[in-house]
Order: sequence, then structure tokens, then C-alpha cells
Amino acid sequence: MTSLATHEVLNQSTPWSGANLYDGNLALQDALAHHLHGHDPTRLAALGRQAGSAQMQMHARLANAHGPQLQSHDRFGRRVDQVEFHPSYHALLGAALQHGLHGTPWQAGPGAHVLRAAAFMLFTELEPSVLCPVSMTYAVTPALRANPALHAAWGPKLASTEYDERCVPFGDKRAVTMGMGMTEKQGGSDVRANTTRADFDSDTPWGRAFSLTGHKWFFSAPMCDAFLVLAQAPAGLSCFFVPRWRPDGSLNPIRIERLKDKLGNRANASSEVEFGGDTTGWLVGDEGRGVPQILAMGALTRLDCALGTAGLMRQALTLALHHTRQRRAFGKLLSEQPLMQNVLADLALESEAATALALRLAVAVDASEHGDDARERMRVDHGHEAVMRRVLTPIAKFWICKRGAAFAQEAMECLGGNGYVEEGGQGVMARIYREMPVNSIWEGAGNIMGLDLLRALRSADVAAALEHELAPARGEHAAFDALARTLPGRIDGSTDEAQARVLARDIALLVQAALLRRHAPDAVFAAFCGARLAGASDVFGLLPAGTPFGALLERALPH
Ligand SMILES: Cc1cc2nc3c(=O)[nH]c(=O)nc-3n(C[C@H](O)[C@H](O)[C@H](O)COP(=O)(O)OP(=O)(O)OC[C@H]3O[C@@H](n4cnc5c(N)ncnc54)[C@H](O)[C@@H]3O)c2cc1C
Repeated sequence: MTSLATHEVLNQSTPWSGANLYDGNLALQDALAHHLHGHDPTRLAALGRQAGSAQMQMHARLANAHGPQLQSHDRFGRRVDQVEFHPSYHALLGAALQHGLHGTPWQAGPGAHVLRAAAFMLFTELEPSVLCPVSMTYAVTPALRANPALHAAWGPKLASTEYDERCVPFGDKRAVTMGMGMTEKQGGSDVRANTTRADFDSDTPWGRAFSLTGHKWFFSAPMCDAFLVLAQAPAGLSCFFVPRWRPDGSLNPIRIERLKDKLGNRANASSEVEFGGDTTGWLVGDEGRGVPQILAMGALTRLDCALGTAGLMRQALTLALHHTRQRRAFGKLLSEQPLMQNVLADLALESEAATALALRLAVAVDASEHGDDARERMRVDHGHEAVMRRVLTPIAKFWICKRGAAFAQEAMECLGGNGYVEEGGQGVMARIYREMPVNSIWEGAGNIMGLDLLRALRSADVAAALEHELAPARGEHAAFDALARTLPGRIDGSTDEAQARVLARDIALLVQAALLRRHAPDAVFAAFCGARLAGASDVFGLLPAGTPFGALLERALPH
């Protein structure tokens, strides 16, 4: 309570700070325990503590309040093409790399991608926009393998847990980060329309070098040390490795024209760049096969979009629970009002289901990345996991990210007017709301995910794989069985394009329900099936009478 000259400040909640984000997240703990039985949670608990600390929250606020600044030229008129960030941005990015959220799983054993996924969700609860370069650095490794010389040289520094922010030649760097450039003015989804040109220059120890001429309309984290870029070579659209510095120690010209003035994601710089014919790119993979090559990277950043949104949902839910347990209206705490309990419980269901689905996709990635010995030891069905990875990537990216914006709006409303205000502390809610849509748009917007799902259906026996995946929940809930029965006839590869979103939603909901059956309490599974599978739920807070709100909220509380 604070006394001012005219009144006392009453009935306002305290800032949410100082909690261990891992210890308080039962949904994440149970999902992890199911997939990685007996894992050591020490590092996640350490990250959870750090990510919930007041000091790191201050960095998140400052990095967003004092966004990146472009320095295109120095004061003598020479081009420098640098972006300057607030020290808090560097503190956050350094912490993310120190926790190995980028390249380290590629150097570790089975389970590393799953633990990294959990850590990525936790860090997102602190600050998502610095995770853009972290995610791209994580995702680049499989694509880079197609150029063994580059992979051998860059792989170890991409996995280093140091952070070296200096813009200096590769040989002088202790650690590096990478980004990607596909989107051009005339097309982002349809990258085959790219006009950037690649002309052969010379054979080098890093393979075939080309000169690039053209532009990229969205080019995030331009202070990364290198980028994978698409350009039209004589044999067709190809993937190129474009470092900021050439091996001979000269700057590789990447002209940053402007920084985007974005709705959210403000701590992260997204730029427009030009390649003036003097920019060198090294071919990665086969000439003319640029799209599948760069999509090896894009598939993993899509995983991170799902993980990141699940993390943001958890953060928004936590803030809503925290506030409503302190704020009174009409004689009772908001959290005791039946209609508010319905809203909060519904948000809790959505948050847990998103966490479960995003982590399930990470499990599939992990399983399909390890050798036969490891798979045998983990008793993983490689064929099944490979199909799950292919199908769940567009489904999880589409559905979780699509639910994110509506989720953030509802969670914000739980805080009333304070939720809409930008100032520090609980102003975080406004930041979450502004951040949510980007995960749905970048790395393939919703419709593109729907179309990709249709391609996935044609590439494998998805019906059989889903039959297996959904088996644990069969016979457990009438609504689940009824919806699951419709699937085989709808996934025969001839699905009408216009129905792709409907199909993506239905598979997402069924897989989420089956996961909740495997690692959530009965009450969560039953409430989810009743609320999501029996009919469309257009807004939150429509859970039917008889739903055990108390049990759902007790589980969701950030203990
Ligand atoms: C903050 C931010 C950062 C970004 N950073 C990067 C980056 O670092 N590197 C990079 O390469 N890109 C980046 N992007 C670009 C992003 O990936 C693209 O904006 C996105 O892929 C969509 O492309 P577009 O903007 O050209 O829209 P379009 O391709 O014009 O799409 C517009 C709409 O049409 C829909 N659509 C397209 N084709 C079809 C179809 N066949 N059927 C039905 N619907 C269709 C899409 O789903 C979308 O809703 C970034 C974007 C943002 C917002």
C-alpha cells in the first residue's frame, strides 16, 4: 500500500519477478519427464531462475525500449553498415548463447534437442526478440552440412557458448551467429520469384564462389557473422553462404539500407539490404536446389516459432494468474469469480496443449537427428519420428502460432486496463501481445503452412503414423474418437487446398489431446477434449458447466 497526497494506492497487484520459471511450470516438467525419463533438470532450473530474475527482466525492458540503431555511414561519409544495440540486448543474447540455445545440440547426444527446446521456451518468457538470431544459428547447421568445408570451419564456432559481439573477421571471432535472407520485395512466400542474381566467380577452398547482385526485403539480425541467402544462379535458385567478412580479411559488402519499424519484436533488428555485385556468396548444396537447401534451415526455425509462442503463452498465463489472484472486484478476488475462472482455466488448457505439441515436435527432431545406435538405445521408431517431424512442423507452426495472438489478447484482458499499458513491470503484457503475430507470419505464414501440410501428406503414409500417434487416447473420450475417425478419409493426399487449415487444426487438436492423455492429469485431458474437440471454441472462457476449474488452475499456477 502506498499513500499519496490525495489517496492510497490500493488493490493493485505486485510486479511479477524473482520466480523460477522452470520450477513453477508443471506442464513443461511433466512433458519433459514423459519424453526424457530421468533427465537432469539442474540446467533448466538454473535458466528458469535467471530468466525470472529482476535483473534480466530489466534487460528485457531496456532492450525493447532502446531498440537497435542503424549506422549506415561513419562521420567521414564511408559506409560502415553497422547496427548498434543497447547493452541490455547484448546481455540477453549472451545469456541465451551461454545456455546453449543455438548450435550446441548438434554437438551433443540424444535428448539434447528436447532439452534445448524446453530451455528455448523458458527463455522466451524472458524476452523473445533476441532469440531471432539464436534460432537462426540453431537452425543453420543441417543446411550448412551440404558444404563440408564451411561446415567444418564454422560448425564449432556456431556451437560455442561464448558471445562475441565484435564485427571482426571470422578468424578473430571466438563465437559466431548466422541469419538468413530469402524474402524479397516481390515475394516472400513464393521465393522462386527471387530476382537476386548469382554469377560464378571462382573456385576456392570453401567451394564455388559467386558474385551476388540484388536485395533482400527482410533480413533480420544483420549483425550476424554470416547468412544463408537465396539467389538465381545459371542453373536456378541456389543457396549461398554470405559472410560479413571474406576469408582474406576484407569486408564483404552487405549494404543495410534501412531498419524496419516493426509492430513488435523491437529489440531485434530487421533490415533491408542490397548486394551490389561485389558481394561474395559461396554455394551451399547443389546449384539449382536452393529452396530445399534453405528449407532445411526453415523447418527448424518453424519449430522455434512454435516453441516461442508456447513460451509466450505460458508467460501471458502466468501474468494473468498472478494479477487475478491479487486484484479484487465486487467483493472477491478476480481469481475467485466463476467467469474469470472459466477464462483462466481455458487459457491454462491452451498453454499446456501448446507446450505439449511444441515439445513433441522437438522430440521428433531429436530422434531423427541421431544415429541408429542412439535410436536403438532410446527405443525410438525412426520411421515414425521422421513422419511426425515432417507433418508436425507445419501443423505446430500453424496452429500454435495462430492461437497465440488470441491468447495474448485474452490474457491481457484479465489485467484490465493495466494490461494495455506499456510501462515496465506488467507492461510486459503489451509486449507479448505485440510479439505474438510475428511467429505466425515469418518463416511461412498460416496458409503456407497449410499448403506444406498437404505436401507432407503426399510424401509418406501419414494416416498410419497418426493412427499410431493417437493410439494412447483412443477409447478415452467420445469427442476424441469421433474426430479421429474422420481423419483417414481426409488425409489421403487429395485434400482440397481450401480445407488445409481445417485439417491442420483438427490434426493439431487430436495430437495435443493424445499428448495430454500421455503426460497430463485426467482432468486436463478430459477438459481439453470437451472444450476443443466437441465443437469449435471461438473465444476463451466457454468451458462447459462442470469443468473442474479449481484443479486446472491449481496445476497452472506458477508455484
Ligand atoms: C519481423 C520480421 C522479420 C523477418 N525476418 C526475415 C528474415 O530474416 N529473412 C527472411 O528471408 N524473411 C524474413 N521475414 C519475412 C517473412 O518470412 C515474410 O514476410 C513471410 O514469409 C511472408 O512473405 P511476404 O511478406 O512476401 O508475404 P506474401 O508471400 O505476399 O504473403 C501474403 C499472404 O498471402 C498468403 N499466401 C501466399 N501464397 C499463398 C497461396 N498460394 N495460397 C494462399 N495464401 C497464400 C500468405 O500466407 C500470407 O498470409 C521477416 C518478416 C518479419 C515480419
